[in-house]
Amino acid sequence: MTDALPPSPDSKGSPFAFQRGVKDYPAILDRVEGCTGGLIGYVGEWHTHPDGAARLSDVDMAAVNQIRSNLDPVGLPTHIMVCAREGIASFVFAGEHEQGARGRVSSREWDVPQGS
Ligand SMILES: [Zn+2]
Repeated sequence: MTDALPPSPDSKGSPFAFQRGVKDYPAILDRVEGCTGGLIGYVGEWHTHPDGAARLSDVDMAAVNQIRSNLDPVGLPTHIMVCAREGIASFVFAGEHEQGARGRVSSREWDVPQGS
């Protein structure tokens, strides 16, 4: 992974929920992919659970299912990363399979942004 982009301007976030927007993102991602000859492109989404666990909530699973409805038919995996105070969890969904990985990080090594 080379970078993490901020939420699009039409996203709505609070410490309790996040609604993903899409404004400007198709053009940004097309430009990155074009400038890198297709080597770098969209790989997935991330958000924080500032006061929660590093696992998928019911809202997260609804987002997974929505994203998978677009990516599964073209054979691409869905990746969601959740950052919480006690660690990071990374989930990859592809076809019939889900793979998850969790890591522990200290606050010294990883500063979790608030409210995104
Ligand atoms: Zn979540």
